[in-house]
Amino acid sequence: MPRKKPSEPQWSPPVKKEYQEYCLEQMPAGAIKADISKHAPHNSYSPPFWYVDQHTKCVECGKEFTFTARQQKHWHEVYKIPIYVAANRCVNCRRKRRGELLTQKQHMEEMAKRPRHPNEAFLRKRTK
Ligand SMILES: [Zn+2]
Repeated sequence: MPRKKPSEPQWSPPVKKEYQEYCLEQMPAGAIKADISKHAPHNSYSPPFWYVDQHTKCVECGKEFTFTARQQKHWHEVYKIPIYVAANRCVNCRRKRRGELLTQKQHMEEMAKRPRHPNEAFLRKRTK
């Protein structure tokens, strides 16, 4: 008998509906409402109920940048990035870093494909 395919794990945030409604009454103007059921699983009793633009300094180049409410919504609800995570690099530095990581990954994959040296053990021997 074929086993039933396991369905997507059911997850619901540990937040009471009344509390959410109470919090949403205090949502500032211009904020974007969050769909908390789309967040990656977490144990927070006060997940972000809305998103507002965050102004931070980039850890890479030190420039001020805005992590917009729309970007936050996309990160947490589409990419399922944990709710505790916020961007700490500006868009340009993020793009640059992603490119570097990709280049490194491609390089490592290329190296893994190359045939090993017949005497690799000898070459790896410490000389000091
Ligand atoms: Zn930057």
